[in-house]
Amino acid sequence: MARAVFKELGVKRFEEGLKELWRQMLEGSAVGAILLPVELESRLVAPALVTGSAMVERSRVLSPYMATNSARLLQMITKTMPPTDRWAVVLRPCEARAAVELCKLKQISQHNLTVISVDCPGTYPLGEFKSLVEGGADVGEQLLENAAEGKRDQRLREACRTCVYPSAPWADIKIGFLNPNGQKCLVIEAVTEAGEELMRRLGMQAGEIVLNHHSALLDKIVAERKKEEQQLLQEQQENLKGPEQILAACVLSVIAKSAFSNRLLLKWKPTGIWGWRRKRVR
Ligand code: SF4
Repeated sequence: MARAVFKELGVKRFEEGLKELWRQMLEGSAVGAILLPVELESRLVAPALVTGSAMVERSRVLSPYMATNSARLLQMITKTMPPTDRWAVVLRPCEARAAVELCKLKQISQHNLTVISVDCPGTYPLGEFKSLVEGGADVGEQLLENAAEGKRDQRLREACRTCVYPSAPWADIKIGFLNPNGQKCLVIEAVTEAGEELMRRLGMQAGEIVLNHHSALLDKIVAERKKEEQQLLQEQQENLKGPEQILAACVLSVIAKSAFSNRLLLKWKPTGIWGWRRKRVR
């Protein structure tokens, strides 16, 4: 059971549904600014503080590329001076988890911040993302649809292919995606009182809802990622079988190998090094 509302989008793209939500927040003065990913001229995405609805048009929360962890940005922004106005910050689950840890260490001030976390189907490495965008693909939307069907995407970053938190364990508001029979829908869940307060200001009345379909979808994604994690673990274990492979994986492998091959270690005598033994004898 969760305190949530469904926002029906019909055949509209998920990104468009999210943009409507950000606009509603800014135009209704529910928040003064929103930290979220926006598209740059290079067509890459980076987090920016959006204060007006004109800039919302450039928001790309579903773009599967993460230039930097926004929790680090929050740390830099709020550590010395928390915002004087209420801000919403839109984070991926891994960013929300990092933000929680930084809050515990008093590196992020939660004062005037409402954390909104969106479910995440993963992100691509820079090269892959660039070539997909240049190819004209609707990358974020496509990735969400594939994740909903339980399809694996081997082009995602390894960390994302094995990430078992497609939904954040904590945020003030969590946003999930559903697409039953091609009818898109956002699941907006109020996790904390601050989250519920923001939803009230947006005119959304959260009710007790059983999120069966959404939970089933997340379970499916997690199950796939656990399989991938096991597979990677097995591959790594295979690659590390035998002393040679362990040495090869070691950071000092180059030094160690050259030392053994040149028999340097066998020739090494403490007296030969800076004469320290001689000094001690005296
Ligand atoms: S899949 Fe996990 S690790 Fe990858 S960007 Fe999303 S939340 Fe972060």
